[in-house]
Amino acid sequence: MTHSPAPDWHARARVLAPETRAFIGGRYVDAASGAVFETINPATGHATAQVSACTAEDASRAVAAARAAFEAGHWANASPAQRKAVLLRLADLIDAEHEHLALLETLDTGKPIRDSLAIDLPATIRCLRWFAEAIDKLYDEIAPTQGNVLSMIRRAPLGVVAAIVPWNFPLVTAMTKIAPALAAGNSVVLKPSELSPLSALALGRLAAEAGLPDGVLNILPGIGPEAGRALALHDDVAALLFTGSTAVGKLLMGYAAQSNLKSVSLECGGKSANIVLRDVPDMDRAVQAAAMGVFQNQGQICNAGTRLLLDAPIHDEFLENLLAVTATLRPGDPLNPETRFGTLISDAHATRVRHWVATGLSEGARRLTPDTPTPPGLRPEALVPPTVLADTTNAMSVAREEIFGPVLCVMRVNGLEDAIAKANDSPYGLAAGLWTGDVSAALAAQNRLNTGFVWINTLRVGDITTPFGGVKLSGQGRDKSLHAFDNVTQRKSVWLDLSHAS
Ligand code: NAD
Repeated sequence: MTHSPAPDWHARARVLAPETRAFIGGRYVDAASGAVFETINPATGHATAQVSACTAEDASRAVAAARAAFEAGHWANASPAQRKAVLLRLADLIDAEHEHLALLETLDTGKPIRDSLAIDLPATIRCLRWFAEAIDKLYDEIAPTQGNVLSMIRRAPLGVVAAIVPWNFPLVTAMTKIAPALAAGNSVVLKPSELSPLSALALGRLAAEAGLPDGVLNILPGIGPEAGRALALHDDVAALLFTGSTAVGKLLMGYAAQSNLKSVSLECGGKSANIVLRDVPDMDRAVQAAAMGVFQNQGQICNAGTRLLLDAPIHDEFLENLLAVTATLRPGDPLNPETRFGTLISDAHATRVRHWVATGLSEGARRLTPDTPTPPGLRPEALVPPTVLADTTNAMSVAREEIFGPVLCVMRVNGLEDAIAKANDSPYGLAAGLWTGDVSAALAAQNRLNTGFVWINTLRVGDITTPFGGVKLSGQGRDKSLHAFDNVTQRKSVWLDLSHAS
């Protein structure tokens, strides 16, 4: 990725003219109804854009365009090497526009521009390049049948795949879904969150420029219960790839059951435990990781280590160090390149998070961080400072429910057994962290932590090579890695009888 001299982000934001219409069949179009919704910059409270509010009629148009493109076969039947070339071109185009896309991400979400530049855009581009590179290296299988039979197990695209994604990492999450789906030869309809549609909408133009045939990628902005629901109920959508809340994930399974039994993969909520035992090998690293593992992206991270389980002998010292690190994370203007902690996604979400903090206090938790005053020049409505609640227990709703904000619940535990029991006592099962110098104990413990991901002596790391997803209310299916192709392909068996071959 190339970097130009430090831009004036405020000046750029003032002259921004983002694409706001749906992208269907290779063209930008208004919603059939002509309706729009506003995207609000949470840092200013002002509208950034008026975006097409698509409904069921537009969802049908998008699915029809996707289906027609799939049937035409220009993409589905292209060789993997041809698809790879187009997707790599798209990655280059995203790279060339990474500053513009990062700005859209920050204006929509309030995340610091430095994070959009250093985390969101690089991860998006890496993801696309990885799946583009993977697709011409995948082989199908031949089954070990009797000699007069050739039984081929092919990985076949499904047809039209719909991706419905949230607002916390808009472009990264969208790419995590659409890159494997496109690489495998499917046509895609992407529905971004109504809170953060702008970066996804820009993808349409870049995809066309990269040479993706019309209709292969369609982008449908709209309100979840309208555009999203219509997609999920559509009989010509073969698979639904979802990241978002558990509540909506459950609805989607219902929509699949009510319609065509489309396959559904769900990356939903989390309440991940981060266990630090008395023999933690490097306390400073563990403290840094515990803080950033919950406060990065203003705590709006599905796999955040939101429950910190501290072994009794190190509880007080660890907390003291943690508070020192937390104090360095001061909310600031998201467009200032120095800012490390921005605003939450919306005033309404910040109000919900503040309500959770109040609930925690009423349940007996102890607040250790100050409610820092709003820095000059910032409006307070969408700000919630990093918040540490001590003396929490799994009996408290604040420790059971996903808050999806910068709130850390600290619990005291007594050794590994107690920690594992408390970590597993959660309706969610996305991830868990374990810090100990005893690697044998850690390896035995990972087997008993009922989550999709376990970190040992680290937290919230991973890359595109490693599957990501959860169990229990955190969902089903895996994103990233070659296993992501399981969500967007079927194993098609072809049994060829050779006994009559001349
Ligand atoms: P959300 O569930 O409210 O919305 C997600 C998407 O679903 C949006 O595009 C929304 O428009 C759409 N939607 C809403 N109602 C719908 C309906 N009835 N039918 C179809 N689509 C509908 O989630 P959010 O608030 O955007 O995101 C936060 C949630 O996402 C948190 O719970 C978080 O844990 C989860 N998340 C999970 C992961 C993961 O990988 N496990 C990653 C990021 C976020």
